[in-house]
Amino acid sequence: MTAPPEAAPPFRTPHWSVLPVPHAQRVWMQPLPQPVWGDWNEALAPSLGLAAHPSPAWLQRLSGHAGDPPWCSAYAGHQFGVWAGLLGDGRAHTLGCLNTEQGSQEIQLKGAGLTPFSRMGDGRAVLRSSIREYLCSEAMAGLGIPTTRALALVSSPLPVQRETRETAAIVTRVAPSFIRFGHFEHLSHHGHRDALRQLFALVLEDFFPACAAEAQPALALLQTVIERTARLMAQWQCVGFCHGVMNTDNMSILGLTVDYGPFGFLEAYDAQHICNHSDRSGRYAYAQQPLMGWWNCGALASALQPLIQDAQAIENALDTFEPLYEANLLEGFRAKLGWQINREEDALLIQQLLALMQRDRVDFTGLFRALSAQEPSALQAGKFQAPSWVGVNSADPDWHQWLQAYGRRAAQEPSSPQERRETMQRINPKYVLRNHLAQEAIEAAQRGDFQCLHQMRQVLQHPFEEHAEWSRWAQPAAPGSPQVCVSCSS
Ligand code: AMP
Ligand code: MG
Repeated sequence: MTAPPEAAPPFRTPHWSVLPVPHAQRVWMQPLPQPVWGDWNEALAPSLGLAAHPSPAWLQRLSGHAGDPPWCSAYAGHQFGVWAGLLGDGRAHTLGCLNTEQGSQEIQLKGAGLTPFSRMGDGRAVLRSSIREYLCSEAMAGLGIPTTRALALVSSPLPVQRETRETAAIVTRVAPSFIRFGHFEHLSHHGHRDALRQLFALVLEDFFPACAAEAQPALALLQTVIERTARLMAQWQCVGFCHGVMNTDNMSILGLTVDYGPFGFLEAYDAQHICNHSDRSGRYAYAQQPLMGWWNCGALASALQPLIQDAQAIENALDTFEPLYEANLLEGFRAKLGWQINREEDALLIQQLLALMQRDRVDFTGLFRALSAQEPSALQAGKFQAPSWVGVNSADPDWHQWLQAYGRRAAQEPSSPQERRETMQRINPKYVLRNHLAQEAIEAAQRGDFQCLHQMRQVLQHPFEEHAEWSRWAQPAAPGSPQVCVSCSS
């Protein structure tokens, strides 16, 4: 009798596992004791050919108790602008790949114990940071932003020491590939030319087949990564997502958002917002992200240099980042404001809006959602309806003037007020993963209640819908509630 598919899926070996040791290694996991389900992403599972309801065998598997030894990989990177040397999968184990309609998907456990790359770490991930990664992966997917996905969260009473004593968890992550800029940097820096060529050829064949047909495939791949990264940065800016640790080891070669740690979404708008408490200099502040994305592409370009050689062509490719980013950003903000036709004054209106938002620390998500619901004729009359927590005083002369100008601009669009509202509400989310929301799910889970996590994940997977019963999750934390401080500790 054959086992049910959810008990024994036909995991394929990841292609990168052919890289020689020590760059790719098979490693046993350290099973998580007394695992319980935190959540199972029934919305993602079927696309992987998995059951909507997981079997107990899956719990064993996704907590490291069953299955063949998985794979780990070596990578390096620049952390906060400084060469950090060997990093690698210190707590990530790749179980294998599944063939799906969306192509091959790699299944990876985060927090399943020590690996040869654990350095000073314990190979574990705490429940707190695992819930943040789990929720944000699905929130970003809901927003339509390229990201690694989260299939499951398993929790355990195993104590783990961070600043305080916490407990362990494992997130099962899913992506076509978890290869980072840092994988190329590692092989290039140490002069492992054969392995570098091998990794390049694997990635090219699996993920960039169009580049293989170009005269200079490595240059074409670099150019494609630059385009995807520039686009990703614009997408982050348009929803106010701050990654927090944009080190080159956290940059996906596929242009996915990867490694959710001390991230945050803008609330009271501040272009200089720093979401990561450990980022003292503000290297990865909100407004810095595009520049840092470009800088990271430069590090990737250096790593690929042995495969390209033509230094001028590399420079030219890097020079395309800024205009690509600017074009994507303008397109993104134009869509947020409901503009389909082009007008000369558009860029100025956006600039003026951001300046007012900065001055009054307006809620980023709340403002754009509120703008989506206004009638152009009401705006032209200087009327604007929004909850007080959005932070716009429409009686203020500067706001009044801007809203009127925006109303006049909106009236030039061919769409009806209803079409306008519907289109804008499909672009401007009602829900993003504000820190206090994640904290609510964390605190409930720490008491053993995973219902909040489950419910919040489902709402965040559909952030453009109203979910009227969960409207409080669209709002900032109540005034006076303790600030959630996030750092690299995870
Ligand atoms: P991160 O800051 O999570 O992106 O991790 C940076 C590097 O540190 C990666 O190589 C991780 O695998 C490693 N790392 C982070 N936390 C741990 C841990 N608790 N145990 C082992 N390695 C870790
Ligand atoms: Mg990382």
